[in-house]
Amino acid sequence: MKIGVLALQGAVAEHLRMLEEAGATAVPVKKAEELADLDGLVLPGGESTTISKLMHKYGFMDALREFGSAGKPIFGTCAGAILLAKQIQGQDECHLGLMDIKVERNAFGRQKESFEVTMPVAGVGADYPAVFIRAPYIVEVGENAEVLAKYDEKIVVARNGHYLAAAFHPELTEDARLHKYFLEMVKEYRS
Ligand code: GLN
Repeated sequence: MKIGVLALQGAVAEHLRMLEEAGATAVPVKKAEELADLDGLVLPGGESTTISKLMHKYGFMDALREFGSAGKPIFGTCAGAILLAKQIQGQDECHLGLMDIKVERNAFGRQKESFEVTMPVAGVGADYPAVFIRAPYIVEVGENAEVLAKYDEKIVVARNGHYLAAAFHPELTEDARLHKYFLEMVKEYRS
């Protein structure tokens, strides 16, 4: 199984390490052509507006919409979840608009810019450690999307078919269970 990590900005190396630990072959993706032989893709955290600009500049917008529409799984973490979302609170436009969720950016406020909690994630475990850094949260999910975790009554992990979104940084701990969960999704969707 070959999984790419979009490598335009953000926490790329850590995702590569976790994906390898979870059992995949992981490669950084810097050019749209490199999507061709991938089974799935991770959109890392960072700054969604910056990553989006670079995605436009390097021809990733249409290429990733095609990738997703072809049924290839995508896992968006933190800024990556914002990039996947069909709706962003307070903004008319979204970025990729592939996943049926609405997100709000920087949703945990200034006092709680960055924190770590242990929480249950459905299908993953009761004690999953999650690192939040200027994190968004998922305001609502569409009819076909599933809520996998909530923190502070806010949705922080959701799945919509072959799309998975986490508001936090699953690559910043030693726990590869959410990456393993994503690899199971990839197996399911691989034809
Ligand atoms: N606050 C960032 C944004 O809005 C996301 C932060 C992150 O990815 N750690 O894009």
